Amino acid sequence: MCGETDSELTVNTVDYSTSKECFDIHKCIKCGHLYTNPRIKEDSIGPYYDNPDYISHTNENKGLFGRTYQFLRGINLRRKISYVDQVFSGKGTVLDYGCGTGQFLEALVASGKKSLGVEINQNARKAAERFGSVYSSINEVDKGVEVITMWHVLEHVYDIHRLLSEFKKRMLKGGYLIAAVPNPQSYDAKHYNEFWAAWDVPIHVHHYTENSIKTLMGQHGFSLEKVIPMKLDSYYISLLSEQYKSKKEKRNIKHWFRGAYVGALSNVKGKNTNTSSKIYVLKYN
Ligand SMILES: [Zn+2]
Repeated sequence: MCGETDSELTVNTVDYSTSKECFDIHKCIKCGHLYTNPRIKEDSIGPYYDNPDYISHTNENKGLFGRTYQFLRGINLRRKISYVDQVFSGKGTVLDYGCGTGQFLEALVASGKKSLGVEINQNARKAAERFGSVYSSINEVDKGVEVITMWHVLEHVYDIHRLLSEFKKRMLKGGYLIAAVPNPQSYDAKHYNEFWAAWDVPIHVHHYTENSIKTLMGQHGFSLEKVIPMKLDSYYISLLSEQYKSKKEKRNIKHWFRGAYVGALSNVKGKNTNTSSKIYVLKYN
């Protein structure tokens, strides 16, 4: 992020959801950016996404967890649309980068916006095509994009400098990038430490702090305008973290209660701003 190559080991964690392999998180000694190190090579990362629980690529409504997830996702979708509305003048197009099966595209279309998606997973892309044009790469997208959204996608991107360069070729000046990412400085991250579910190694290759977002985005002409807390994520991540911490294969009622308690505590300790995940609203100058 800042060009410094020296780092220190901060957490040794595990891919709890898929491979059960161990991975280290390193911290840059200069800017404090956190990253998975070493990383799985990008062309070998595919199998690490092969997890039946990887809900963002499916629409299944199974069990209490699935139903709760779907319900909360509905609330989250309406909120996300309102964040776009706050910066959208209505002239250009909204691009949802990493659109998965297209829930956000569907919500954009329903609110009357011109929208596009990019999704590398072929099955997810096929599903998303119901809601508009969806491409497999940013290279296929035309100029004239006003807002780009990345909902929990930035942390998966390997070559972020290249991607931001590609975004800029297509964005209108004065346009916005809205990126939601997990917050490794939240209370729940510190509380669960190596069991924190949002490390999500090895598919999360970067773990952004507010400072590393500013460092990265500043290099590409984006200025941080606003940070929006994601209070629901604190509960979701705490629930998963409780399960990982107990080393149980299945979620049980204890995980739900403890997750709810720690999730609420995280929002209180973070004063409803330093939450489990944060949304960065960045203006392209
Ligand atoms: Zn750095």
